[in-house]
Amino acid sequence: MPELAEVEYNRKQWDPGRGQTVLAAEPRHGKRVFRETDAALLARELEGKTLLGSEASGKQMLFRFSGGCWLGASLGMTGGLRVEAADFKAGPHDHLVLRQRRQSLVFADPRQFGRLRLDQGAERPAWWRSLAPPVLSREFSAAAVAAYFARRAGAPVKAVLLMQERFPGVGNWMADEILWRGRVFPKTLCGALTTAETRAIWRQTRWVSRTALATIGRDYRDPPASWLFPHRWAGGGKCPRDGAVLSREEVGGRATCWCPECQPPAKA
Ligand SMILES: [Zn+2]
Repeated sequence: MPELAEVEYNRKQWDPGRGQTVLAAEPRHGKRVFRETDAALLARELEGKTLLGSEASGKQMLFRFSGGCWLGASLGMTGGLRVEAADFKAGPHDHLVLRQRRQSLVFADPRQFGRLRLDQGAERPAWWRSLAPPVLSREFSAAAVAAYFARRAGAPVKAVLLMQERFPGVGNWMADEILWRGRVFPKTLCGALTTAETRAIWRQTRWVSRTALATIGRDYRDPPASWLFPHRWAGGGKCPRDGAVLSREEVGGRATCWCPECQPPAKA
């Protein structure tokens, strides 16, 4: 499932189309990715408009077109953006194709948990302005994280790290990486976290986000072997710090991986 850096990577895939007009917008009508917007209206409005720029915030993307048109996109579990030739023939999972003179901009999503939406207006749409402050912004402070944990004292920290209203862009692998780096047992209840652990989680959330953007976000390159990331997927993985066999279990309904040596449960 695309997380912060994968979303940023996808956003940039449409960069070749910036400054160019949409000659035709071809939505695949009746598809679930259009559940919040009228696909025919979207197509009509985007035709003749120029792609001016784009931005990502957490797992959301926003593409700005001339004439006050905004195309919001999220990737769900299997969505992706790419560029194809101008005369490219769309496949069954290519739910939106924007034709330009030199290329086609494609949004594909086999499982359709992703979403496309059109907004119009001089300003960025209200839903975008109400998104949580990015984890690399000043508003994402250690105090804000501590206050959020305090309100969810009875929930395991792994589950709370996935909440987009406070940790936008953090998904399953990032949450595991953050806790491993912060040496926090994933099942620790938020109310039982020490001040030092909360600070470590805050600091590692920013570090993992920044570093993932510089690797995955830039060219989809995997983070180095010193991360938990390359060891967490297959069975039998070992902690890159100490060689301990990694533990795996569901926490808060999500597959979770941690090192029993680096992240032991707190002693009662
Ligand atoms: Zn370890």
